[in-house]
Amino acid sequence: MATREILKFPDPRLKQVSKPVEKITDEIRALAADMLQIMYDEPGIGLAAPQIGEFIRLAVVDTDWTDEDKEGTRNPLVLVNPEITEREGEITWEEGCLSVPDFLANVKRSARVQVRCLDLDGKEVVHDVEELQAVCFQHEIDHLDGVLFIDRISRLKRSMYVKKRMKLVKRELQDEEEEGPDFTGGI
Ligand SMILES: [Zn+2]
Repeated sequence: MATREILKFPDPRLKQVSKPVEKITDEIRALAADMLQIMYDEPGIGLAAPQIGEFIRLAVVDTDWTDEDKEGTRNPLVLVNPEITEREGEITWEEGCLSVPDFLANVKRSARVQVRCLDLDGKEVVHDVEELQAVCFQHEIDHLDGVLFIDRISRLKRSMYVKKRMKLVKRELQDEEEEGPDFTGGI
């Protein structure tokens, strides 16, 4: 069931470097299916396993759909152990992230990348992607290396966001404390 929680900045686990998938098992396939469902539900165009607390090199992307078009095109891609094998050019795109709430910023990346990975059958696949798809692939592969898009923007913009976000997180924590502990007895 796709009810997993998405880790959000400043959760330190988002900085973890994920381990390669050693074997594509039914659990991996089920996890990929969950991730796609979470991505469409959110909605998003990509999701990496570490964002839901699974620190393995697995990501899903679909840049062909929009959430206004519920019945529309779906072109889900599952990337197992993706690796960038070629890059070319430069592109600036306004990015957001399900793990970085309420923030968008321009990020400079390669305009075209070639990515080698495995699919869910364990077959090697090479994706040659550009523009939004290239941005999305690079963003997701960054997650597998513990890198967020806010690590790729100017220090000033980043610190402005961090300050705002920390204030909000602190307020949420205080609200929780005022409500008292969730645990009310029973073992
Ligand atoms: Zn992200």
